[in-house]
Amino acid sequence: METCDLLLGGSYLLAMDDGDTRIRNGAVAVRGGRILEAGSFERLKKAYAPAETIWHEDSVIMPGLVDAHTHETLTRGLHEDLPLMRWLEEVCYPIEGQYCPEDLYAAALMTQAELIRGGVTTFIDIFRFAGEAIRAVRQTGLRGIFTPQFFDATEDTLESIDRTVELIKTYHGTEDGRVSVWFGPHAPYSVSPERYRRAAELAGKLGAGIHTHLCETEDEVRTVRQRYGMDPVAMMQEAGVLDVPCVLAHCIYLTDSNIRLLAEKRDTAALVYNPISNLKLADGIARVPEWLKAGCTVGLGTDSNLSNNGLDMFNEMRIGGYMQKTFNHDATIMPCGQMLRLATRGSAAALKMEDKIGSLEAGKCADVIAVSLKKPHLWPIYYENPSNIVEQLVYSARASDVITTVCNGRVLMDNGVLRTIDEEEVFAFVQERAASLYARSFPGRFPCTEKPPAD
Ligand SMILES: [Zn+2]
Repeated sequence: METCDLLLGGSYLLAMDDGDTRIRNGAVAVRGGRILEAGSFERLKKAYAPAETIWHEDSVIMPGLVDAHTHETLTRGLHEDLPLMRWLEEVCYPIEGQYCPEDLYAAALMTQAELIRGGVTTFIDIFRFAGEAIRAVRQTGLRGIFTPQFFDATEDTLESIDRTVELIKTYHGTEDGRVSVWFGPHAPYSVSPERYRRAAELAGKLGAGIHTHLCETEDEVRTVRQRYGMDPVAMMQEAGVLDVPCVLAHCIYLTDSNIRLLAEKRDTAALVYNPISNLKLADGIARVPEWLKAGCTVGLGTDSNLSNNGLDMFNEMRIGGYMQKTFNHDATIMPCGQMLRLATRGSAAALKMEDKIGSLEAGKCADVIAVSLKKPHLWPIYYENPSNIVEQLVYSARASDVITTVCNGRVLMDNGVLRTIDEEEVFAFVQERAASLYARSFPGRFPCTEKPPAD
């Protein structure tokens, strides 16, 4: 009998492969971080001698979810309900400038604990002190792309292209391939075309990519047009960004020709749908059905605990689908199977990892989760003829229904117990750092010059 590290099984396996393989009482056998085989639990039990066997009755075994745009920030829930630019300028940027490495380490541990609990095994992060976020990911066991967020205004003092190059040289491809480092220019209105061009050139040279915000607001498009005489997508094309791996968050205000161009560039350029953030910040509604119809590469992301305010990809799938149905006056649009695909295969493709993650197939990385159906909000369960499993996952499940999370073959959580993070310790650390960060950001004053009207 062949040995393996882990046999993880449950009442229903959803492989999310091209053939949409579904196995009643299915399992994956894992060795050396890779999936050896996905198949029936009974058969795999006879074929392999696993070091650890996990079986969850009435659970769904499926690929780990992939968050294709987020920020590992520490100050969730502060000074809410402001317009986007005021919120950024009066609250977010002053705090961002005060982060010290330990604050970011606390933010990363908090974020990653939440991701593991919610069944997210891979994410792309754009924020500060990527070295600290990587320090956290080495401990937590997740898979991530880290993209230090730089602005023209703070290139000399905070994150920068040159410091990112150093991080790429130190960390890109480390931890058995779990860690990648890309460039993180903030947005076309805060980073010059020259810096975008330099980042794109270096990304090409160093085998990295670009992660940026794009066409998030009408104001951004207007500003960029006035400044450069072209729209933000044209600015990206001119700078060579669309010809290297690039993850473009939001993309709400795209023209038809923008969408056609991004579809042509689908092998390098990916658009990310951030529905809850877009709703909360009143940014607008992205034309996702048209992106998909045109053939764009599309992923799904949470955009951080600041703008969302959670990292629950089940929520993102559900709200993202509902938003499109209402906006398009069409209940058939963006069906649940398509939303689940965006959160797995779509986001994996967006991060240029489709050959490694996003589905349960032999040879792929063992990024696998189990979602328990043993809760009334997920009943009744129809396994087969008919099956309502995908419907329940997208329309009824929550992050807290995930009971097991495995990344790169390592069990990060089972039965809801985290194995790589001491949550109590992290909670105390987060409380301490969050208080300190706030006090340093707004010494002796309330940040917003004008409070929103009380209801
Ligand atoms: Zn963002």
